[in-house]
Amino acid sequence: MRRFLIIFLIFLFNQALALDIVYPNKNRCQINAKSTFFVGNVNVGKQLTINSKPVKIWYGNIFVEPVNLKEGENTFVLESNGETRTYTITKPTPPKTSSGHKANEYREFPDNAILYTKTKDIRTPVREKASSGAKRVCDLPKDTVLYSVGKKAGFHKLYTGDKRELWAAETSLDKKHFSFLSKITMSEIFAQRIYSDDYYDYIELHLSMPVLYTAETEGNNIKLTLFGVKWNKALDQSVVKQDSFPNMTVRQEGSNLVFYINSDRSNWGYLATYKGDKFIFKKRKPPEKDKNLPLANVNIFIDAGHGGSQLGAVGPTRVNEKDINLQIAYKLSALLKQKGANVVMSRTGDTDLGLYERVDMANENKAHIFVSIHANSLPDHQNPYEKHGTSVYYYHDSAKELAEIIGKNLVSDTGLRNDGVNIGNFAVVRTTMPIAVLVETAYMIYPPEYIQLQNNSFQRLLARSIASSIEMYVLSRE
Ligand SMILES: [Zn+2]
Repeated sequence: MRRFLIIFLIFLFNQALALDIVYPNKNRCQINAKSTFFVGNVNVGKQLTINSKPVKIWYGNIFVEPVNLKEGENTFVLESNGETRTYTITKPTPPKTSSGHKANEYREFPDNAILYTKTKDIRTPVREKASSGAKRVCDLPKDTVLYSVGKKAGFHKLYTGDKRELWAAETSLDKKHFSFLSKITMSEIFAQRIYSDDYYDYIELHLSMPVLYTAETEGNNIKLTLFGVKWNKALDQSVVKQDSFPNMTVRQEGSNLVFYINSDRSNWGYLATYKGDKFIFKKRKPPEKDKNLPLANVNIFIDAGHGGSQLGAVGPTRVNEKDINLQIAYKLSALLKQKGANVVMSRTGDTDLGLYERVDMANENKAHIFVSIHANSLPDHQNPYEKHGTSVYYYHDSAKELAEIIGKNLVSDTGLRNDGVNIGNFAVVRTTMPIAVLVETAYMIYPPEYIQLQNNSFQRLLARSIASSIEMYVLSRE
């Protein structure tokens, strides 16, 4: 028993002191990039060489070393304190590209035929261009009726009745509904209701079939278009309660029904959905202002990125991003509460949560603002010594101002490098309600920032900067 214990202790001791390579996580792997990096830690005070070249060891005994990759096999021998590890990284040879550009040309259906189809996914993206990387205009629910006038690169060009180009991937359409028609069938309005509750103003239209819609924001105003819908004049206009949308006008523009939802107050987000054939548009009401406490009545949802089995980025000493995110989220929550805000966190412990689940939780809690907290990593081909710092992401124009205020303040308050305020295609910021931003506080794989991210007072500095940015933003809004 005792011998077993001693062997076990020696085993533990060796494990704890060994050269620890966190990334790449396998010593035989394929990486399709011009470069990658070795991330990990060494024994206290020990050196490290990669292919006999000394590597910089940072405070905390950590290393992050970029290495170039050539096509084929690349061998790296890491040596520290007499311990040797060999990594074989294969960079695949790119396949010869054939000139298959013909398939990517736009083709209309013959004889001006229109293809009737329905969406088959619960969240079908409609995009500005025929590409899976193009900006999403809206996400349509399953069984929305769409009309296509032609195809390009696996995408259908949707009938809009005007010059607008909207595209949906063929893979998201239900082929069993495909049928060619000579013209579209207009959706009829059976009933309409315009009303408010404490949180939202609503437009509800009971349609004969669910159709394509878009909502475009410009400043405070929203232009809501339903494609292929006929305005029912027979419906009693008096059901329109003008205090819900006092500056709204509704116009039939060709085959489209357009709601011009203009407002003197700031836009705090909207959501458009279908419940069966019922189209529901709800617009968030602005928070009631309180002169003494700027964030009173403001509902803020703080999302600590990742959690549970989703570790996020893993740092050189195996600290997980999910834990750092949660520590910062707690500090931010406390500061916002002091300023009078109603704060809800997506998670208060180490729990697994889906991305859409986080957005749904925010809306169930009637949030005005959604802030997702993360710490950044890099894809293989980038160099952490060249790219690091703090960055903020948003998707919709309505969140751009908040993202810019946070980005600007974080740089000046923390001294971190400005890594930009950008449009980011992340599910949590793609929502049109609440006003949503994602903060990449700093980098997990840039050693000086990794050390800072674990420091309590630096976390507090980040939280203070984000909290005062939110306050500035709310004060600037009507
Ligand atoms: Zn993250």
